[in-house]
Amino acid sequence: MEIKKCIQFNGHDIFLIPGMNSDFLLYAPTLRTLLKIRDRFALRISENGLSQGVTDKGVRAVVLLLERSLKDAIKPFPMHQRKSKFFHLAIGLTKDCTLGCLYCHANAGKREEMPVELLYKTIHYAFETARKDNLKGINISFAVGGEPTTNWELFTSCIRRIKESEIQYGVSVHLSMTTNGYYGPNKRLFVAEHVHSVLLSLDGSPEIQNYHRPSLSGKESYPVVRDSALFFIKNVRSFAIRATISNHSVKKMPEIVEFFSREFGNQYHLVFEPLVPLGRATVNTHNISEPRQDEFVDYYIQAKELGQKLGIEIRTSAANHRRLVTSFCGAMSIPSFTVTTKGIVTTCERDIEVENFFSVFRNGIACF
Ligand code: SF4
Repeated sequence: MEIKKCIQFNGHDIFLIPGMNSDFLLYAPTLRTLLKIRDRFALRISENGLSQGVTDKGVRAVVLLLERSLKDAIKPFPMHQRKSKFFHLAIGLTKDCTLGCLYCHANAGKREEMPVELLYKTIHYAFETARKDNLKGINISFAVGGEPTTNWELFTSCIRRIKESEIQYGVSVHLSMTTNGYYGPNKRLFVAEHVHSVLLSLDGSPEIQNYHRPSLSGKESYPVVRDSALFFIKNVRSFAIRATISNHSVKKMPEIVEFFSREFGNQYHLVFEPLVPLGRATVNTHNISEPRQDEFVDYYIQAKELGQKLGIEIRTSAANHRRLVTSFCGAMSIPSFTVTTKGIVTTCERDIEVENFFSVFRNGIACF
C-alpha cells in the first residue's frame, strides 16, 4: 500500500507530505496541527485511517491529539461570503508569442487570435454584468494563452475599448497583465500608461533567462527584458518580477536575488514560482523540468532571508505567510470569467484547453 496524500478526519483534510530523510509532515491546516513523523508511521496512518475505532496504538494517539484540536478548528468559510464584489475577467487575446520558452505552459506559438467581435462582446458582457449586479468594479487580466502584446493592434484596440466602456458605464477597472517584456520603448510606454499592475516574467541572470526564455529564433532575450524591467520599475504603479524556477535554476535562487538587487535595486516584488509541467514542459523534459520540492523550499527560504536583508519582498503562491487563505487560487473561489481565443469560457487561465472547469457553463460555450 502507498502512503496517502490526504486523509479525512471529522470533515477536516489531513495531509501527509513527504519531507527529507524518510520524514513526513502530518499537516492538518484547519486543526492548526503539524507533526513530523517517520515514513513507516505515515504508512500505518494510511493503512488504518484516522477513525475513533482504530486499534493501532500509535495511530490512536494521533487520533486523540486531533480530537483535542477540534475545539480550536477553523470553521468552514461560508460560500456567500466568498462572493466577490468585483467582476473578474481574463481575456485570451492570442496563442502566439514572441518568445519560445522551453517550458511554456500554454505551448504558445500558434497563429490563433480572438476575433475582434468576440473581444468586444466579452468586454460588453463584463460591463453589463458589473452594472446589473451593482458590483464595485471589474478586474481585467490577460493571463490566458500566449503573450498579450504579440498582436499589437488587437492588444491596443482591446485596451481602448475597455477605457471607453469604463467611461460609458461608470464602472471602474483595474487592469493587470503578465508579460514577457520582449519589446521596445513605444510598447513599454503604452503598457505603463494603461496597465495598473504588471508582472514581468524574467527568470534570473542572462545565463538563466536566455536558456529558459530564448526568442523564437533562439536569440537571447535578457537585454531587451532587462530594459523593460528598468522602465516598468520607474513607471508602473504596481510592478513585480516573476521568476520561474526549474531544475537548472533552483539552487541559484539566492544568487538571483543578489543579481536582481544589483541590476534593479529593490523597488519591486519578486515572485518565485516552481515550473509547472504543462504544455511544452511536458515534451522538453530532457532540457528542463520542475525543481525538486525540497530543494525549492530550502533555496526559497534562503532567498527570502536574503531578500529581507536587501529590502526586496519575495513571495511564492505556494506559501502565504501573511494570512490564512480559504483556497489555493481564485479559480474555484472567485471565480474568474476567463474567455479563450475561441470564445470558450473557463474559470482557470491554466485550463486553456478547457478540460477541467468547463462543465458549469453549457458545454463550455460562452453564450453572450
Ligand atoms: S511562457 Fe509566456 S513568454 Fe514564454 S513562450 Fe509561453 S506565452 Fe510566451
